[in-house]
Amino acid sequence: MATWEDARRCPKCEMPGKEVERKSARGDKGQPCSVVKMECTTGLCRWYQTNYFVQINADGSIPDPESPLTRQKNFPVDAPDWVINQKIQQVNDAGLEIQELSQRGGMELR
Ligand SMILES: [Zn+2]
Repeated sequence: MATWEDARRCPKCEMPGKEVERKSARGDKGQPCSVVKMECTTGLCRWYQTNYFVQINADGSIPDPESPLTRQKNFPVDAPDWVINQKIQQVNDAGLEIQELSQRGGMELR
């Protein structure tokens, strides 16, 4: 079992990340658990502002310590699709905002 102190660390820089979101989920055996979405806050880390996930079992235990090596397998260097989709969504939202502003303010977009 891992401790939260260990599990919350960024797989890349080993610094404790920031908890972004906690959701109930199902573990690999269908058991109820929580999945905590973490974000690396180390500016120099290549995972800076990248999300990674920590699973917490219903009884509060954390499944075995993924060594940085195993974790790399579970979480490839490239962000998971849904993170990328989220970023695309953010860009789209920002685009809409600009459109809205331009319509309101009479600013012209080229
Ligand atoms: Zn990091």
